[in-house]
Amino acid sequence: MRKKIVAGNWKMNTTLQEGVALAKEVNEALKDATPKCDVVIAVPFTHLASINAVIDQNKLGLGAENCADHKSGAYTGEVSAPMVASTGATYVILGHSERRQYYGETSEILKEKVALALENNLTPIFCIGEVLEERENGTYHDVVKKQIEEALFNLSAEDFGKIILAYEPVWAIGTGKTATDEQAEDMHAYIRSVIADRYGKEVAENTSILYGGSCKPSNAAQLFAKPDVDGGLIGGASLDAASFMGIVNAF
Ligand code: PEP
Repeated sequence: MRKKIVAGNWKMNTTLQEGVALAKEVNEALKDATPKCDVVIAVPFTHLASINAVIDQNKLGLGAENCADHKSGAYTGEVSAPMVASTGATYVILGHSERRQYYGETSEILKEKVALALENNLTPIFCIGEVLEERENGTYHDVVKKQIEEALFNLSAEDFGKIILAYEPVWAIGTGKTATDEQAEDMHAYIRSVIADRYGKEVAENTSILYGGSCKPSNAAQLFAKPDVDGGLIGGASLDAASFMGIVNAF
């Protein structure tokens, strides 16, 4: 049975002090709760070790928002997968559209990052999704299929089974424009069929596919009710503990 997951992506927000306070608030809200999904926060590198020290990772998973495509060496300013793992984090977001768009992350680069994440026992939350033009010209299925094929289909079935996917239509990220539950379900079911063609039905059925893009407490329940939507990757709404918990409780 695949996992239901709600993961927050804090992006480049909060100072260390603000981030620790927010993590404590979410951790506190989860303490006596029995959510029907796994809950994860992905936070800036600078916050990882401090947040690891104040949360209960049995209740609240911790992840980074990126990692380097090299293990170590002369790559000034980069943070490697082993470094992320050494903080206590166990997840890493890879391939977010903002990384692809602003930092030129290609499938070739992402392939390296995925391999290094897995080598270091980090669970990749791998993002895919089309831009508005591709939605409008009807190529969105092909675009998403290509993103998955190029960066992930070199993996063994065992390693692919460790990946969490996040379908994030770029036109819905931070725009307030959410995909409809039908649009999300259509793409998620398609993604599952692409996985089934490559790895078989069992692997496909066991892969968690999250939806991301202006997900909030008011629309989460409708999205999560769709059979192939296994949860959400939450940007803006994860920066407020009550909103984030509202989405967690949508399950
Ligand atoms: C994201 O960046 O992963 C995201 C889904 O952002 P938002 O929820 O703000 O649209």
